[in-house]
Amino acid sequence: MAAKVLDGASVARAIKDEVAREVAEYSKRGLRPGLAAVLVGNDPASQIYVSSKVKTCAELGLYSEKIEMAETASTDEVLSLVRDLNSRDDIDGILVQLPLPRQVASAVILDSVDPAKDVDGFHPVNVGRLAIGEPGLRPCTPAGIIEMLDRYAIEIEGSRAVILGRSRIVGLPMSLLLLHRHATVTICHSRTPDIASVAREADILIAAIGRMALVDGSFIKPGAVVIDVGTNRVTEARDLDRLFGDDQKRRAAFAKNGYTLVGDVNPREAAEVAGYLTPVPGGVGPLTIAMLMKNTLAAMKMRRGV
Ligand code: NAP
Repeated sequence: MAAKVLDGASVARAIKDEVAREVAEYSKRGLRPGLAAVLVGNDPASQIYVSSKVKTCAELGLYSEKIEMAETASTDEVLSLVRDLNSRDDIDGILVQLPLPRQVASAVILDSVDPAKDVDGFHPVNVGRLAIGEPGLRPCTPAGIIEMLDRYAIEIEGSRAVILGRSRIVGLPMSLLLLHRHATVTICHSRTPDIASVAREADILIAAIGRMALVDGSFIKPGAVVIDVGTNRVTEARDLDRLFGDDQKRRAAFAKNGYTLVGDVNPREAAEVAGYLTPVPGGVGPLTIAMLMKNTLAAMKMRRGV
């Protein structure tokens, strides 16, 4: 059996097209959603993420501003920037790219973002709203996964869902979103004994642990939907052999870049057992930026009462 591929890139394209159409409609009425992306320091991965978010805003017709601060910025300096953005009417969404440099108190900064502009859905007010099922801004990665399940008409209600990982960004909000959609939810973490046997009960298995291909065939119930959130670099030739065999595209990427990406799921073994599987790359990743755009539009509508 070969699992069907859940094509995150094409779902993301569809979401972005819908956002672009709505943005064009609002623009005719003089309303344009605006996103401010705050980048503190020189982390190369963060620079790439922020640039691609800003670029996507331009593609879809949203206004965006990239605000860069020095690696040495203090908590007070970042705080004062966020407060300024909170007070601006042309800015509907504020995202503070993580991780912040060590001397900046991340929790203080995230808590200072106006919850109405918190397009990452990390503010305690939005976390609380999610917990009790009230409308609010939801974290982009898990919200994107729900969109994908819905667009592939995968039944959530009544299913057994197992989430590997309990982070504030992915695992925890994912579990709440699935719970509100009437799945029976189990969360596993680093202190759960024998996660393979828990995972094997899942109709929907979400892996968000950041451990290279840890989820092998023994974790998967035959026919299950497997969502692989992890992004890990394969840098050793023996891992390349084990995970991708003679897949020529992977071998070429590895030879060119010195690495290739793999998720938390072993792709060869999962493809044999699962019913549906997200690829890495091209699965969950593209959904995250698409949902950021959707959240910025939603924030504009809620905040400006349209
Ligand atoms: P995180 O904050 O490091 O959390 C990892 C979670 O996994 C923790 O809850 C941890 O348990 C659990 N865990 C770690 N090792 C485990 C093990 N051996 N068995 C069971 N549980 C284990 O990571 P994250 O931010 O949620 O991200 C997870 C992965 O998803 C990373 O690879 C990240 O790069 C990727 N990611 C991808 C996207 C995307 O758009 N594609 C977005 C976000 C994240 P404890 O709580 O007990 O420590």
